[in-house]
Amino acid sequence: MSKILIIEDEEAIADLEKDYLELSDFEVKIEHDGEKGLKNALKDDFDLIILDLMLPGMDGFEVCKKIREKKDVPILMVSAKKDDIDKIRGLGLGADDYITKPFSPSELVARVKAHMSRYSRLVGANPQQNDIVEIRGLKIDKTARRVYIDGTEKNFTTKEFDLLTFLAENPNHVYSKEELFRKIWNMESVGDIATVTVHIKKIREKIEYDTSNPQYIETIWGVGYRFKI
Ligand code: CA
Repeated sequence: MSKILIIEDEEAIADLEKDYLELSDFEVKIEHDGEKGLKNALKDDFDLIILDLMLPGMDGFEVCKKIREKKDVPILMVSAKKDDIDKIRGLGLGADDYITKPFSPSELVARVKAHMSRYSRLVGANPQQNDIVEIRGLKIDKTARRVYIDGTEKNFTTKEFDLLTFLAENPNHVYSKEELFRKIWNMESVGDIATVTVHIKKIREKIEYDTSNPQYIETIWGVGYRFKI
C-alpha cells in the first residue's frame, strides 16, 4: 500500500484529504506543522508528500528545500495563492506539482495517482534486486545483510552472518572447524576453532526450532558441519 504524508496545519483540510486518499487505498499520515512534517518525511519512507505552503514555524518553502536535500520522494505543494506557485517555481525548490486551494478532493486524488504511476515507472525502470539466499523458512538477504526465519527478522553479528551465509551457499558439503575458521576469520584474528563452535551455537539458537535436532546446520561428529539442503 502506498504511503502518503500530509503536512497541513488546517485540520479540516488535512482530514478531508486523508478521507479521500484512504478511499483510494492510500495509507495516510498527517502532521500539522513544518518541523514535525520534515522530521517524519526524512525518517519514514513515503511514496508522496502533500505539503501546504503556509505553515506555522517552518514554512512549506523551507520544508520542501530540506526534504529535497535528502530525498527524491514526489512533493505536491498546496497553496492558497496562485502567486505563490510562481514563487515556488522561481525558487526551483524541486516540488513536483502544485495545486491551489480551494481544490476538489477528487482533483487531489487524481494528481496523486498521476504522480505515483510516474514515480513507480521511473523507479521500476532500474530495478535493484537484492541478492537473496532462501532455504525452506530461512531467508538471507545478502545485500541488506539481514536474516529472516519464517518472515521474522533475527539479529546477526557480522561473523555469524558470514558463517551462516557461507554454509547456506555451500550446502551438502562438510567443512571442518579449521576450514570455517580460515574462511570466515582472517588469519590475523585472535581465536581458534572454538570460536567456530561458539558461533554455530549462537546461529542455531536463532534459526533452529530445536537446537538439539537441527534442521539447517548438522554436526558431523569428528569432522565438522554441513548445511542440509
Ligand atoms: Ca496553511
